[in-house]
Amino acid sequence: MDIMRLNLTDIADGFRRKEWSSREITETCLDQAERAAGETHAYVELSRDRALTAAAEADGRYAAGRPLSAVDGVPLGIKDCLLVAGAHATAASAILKDYLAPYDATAVSRLRQAGAVFLGKTNMDEFAMGSTTETSCHGPSRNPWDTSRIPGGSSGGSAVAVAEGSAVAALGSDTGGSVRQPAAMCGIVGFKPTYGRVSRYGLIAMASSLDQVSPITRSVTDAAILLRVMEGHDPRDATSVPLKLEWSLPESFDESLRGLRIGLPAEYFVSGLDPQVERTVREAISRLEDLGAEIREISLPHTEYALAVYYIIMPCEVSANLARFDGIRYGRRVSGADLEDTYRRSRGQGFGKEVRRRIILGTYALSSGYYDAYYLRAMKVRRLIANDFARAFDDVDCIVTPTVPTTAWKLGEKLDDPLAMYLSDVYTVSANVAGLPAISIPCGLVDGLPVGLQIMGRHFDDKTVLGTAYAYEKAYGGPGRFAAPR
Ligand code: GLN
Repeated sequence: MDIMRLNLTDIADGFRRKEWSSREITETCLDQAERAAGETHAYVELSRDRALTAAAEADGRYAAGRPLSAVDGVPLGIKDCLLVAGAHATAASAILKDYLAPYDATAVSRLRQAGAVFLGKTNMDEFAMGSTTETSCHGPSRNPWDTSRIPGGSSGGSAVAVAEGSAVAALGSDTGGSVRQPAAMCGIVGFKPTYGRVSRYGLIAMASSLDQVSPITRSVTDAAILLRVMEGHDPRDATSVPLKLEWSLPESFDESLRGLRIGLPAEYFVSGLDPQVERTVREAISRLEDLGAEIREISLPHTEYALAVYYIIMPCEVSANLARFDGIRYGRRVSGADLEDTYRRSRGQGFGKEVRRRIILGTYALSSGYYDAYYLRAMKVRRLIANDFARAFDDVDCIVTPTVPTTAWKLGEKLDDPLAMYLSDVYTVSANVAGLPAISIPCGLVDGLPVGLQIMGRHFDDKTVLGTAYAYEKAYGGPGRFAAPR
């Protein structure tokens, strides 16, 4: 069987019909991960024995006619900043190299209770700071479409695993685009739910007001299925919301988009957008029109400030969140002459360059005398950006844009130019700044490389975002339509 052409539902149906077992699918993924490790490096740790044991248990439940859920027996890759009990959780940082997770993140434990199988931990940028996986202490991952290119990031390993068939689906985290951007670059689906829909408990925090645990999948339906298992209030995360989606998938989705009003923000189609990417995205938008949607030009006037706001607020929160990694409370200790020297050595040697840059920027922006000029002002502009969206959603039901201004670039190309790197996040950060749900789905190829279409929606209207993406996928190609050449 070619698992690249199967989505999660097909795979679970196969379990039920005894066409294949969870053990077989899990082994196929593990073998593929090992085969591709030297080339694409999706995983930083594989848990073969534990995965096969969990798969055998799932097979037992199917044999008894009692599967636990739609994800029972389905093998998943988990980004290395999410805790899986008993597995390492390094967040791709040298400072956490030996850290073993003592418990499951809530998203992980809900999936575990539903029977999912965990293959291992996927590669990422250090503490999720980056757009390429190149800041990982384990070395970069590579794009299965062209291994001289980056897979995107920071959840690059998860995207590679799903695109190359070494996982059926995977979890990532999205703080400024980290599931949507690598999904776009690897030709698959990346979905960031509304902030608060999925608990962040057990996610190694980057920027707590922006972080969201998010699925990376081969189809829109798969993303919705994973969300249903993970979502909902968790007493351990005060920002998680006691809302459950009233839907069953894909039955509750319409294949026509008649009556749907889609906004096209002028500010997202400006210079910096690769002309071929723009053409591909505009073609996809006209296909949405063919499906019955009405396209309206809209304006999100504060868009030009989104990157600046993100790159102030995010490092401020980073500087606070990463204070705990001091070699005493958390992290590998490098002993020095006294306590302060121990802190200095542990943090100086444990963190990579990009992480240090952000901690310093954030500490500076929060320091007395600068707080008002940077952090406070950024928070005010954050409100203006959220208001732009709220106003736009008076007239439209969702908003479509490109996910990334270009296709995947060559490894090393932007590594020494942080500003060029940050600019590639220009279309994805706003959804985090405003807390909105947003998905990237594959919509075509440019020079043999995938292009993503982004759909954003109202707070807690994840259903319209998924429904619009589902209608597009149904009409124009599901899993395997853009399978990476192997
Ligand atoms: N590329 C962005 C950054 O470096 C987004 C990262 C993320 O979403 N974790 O901050």
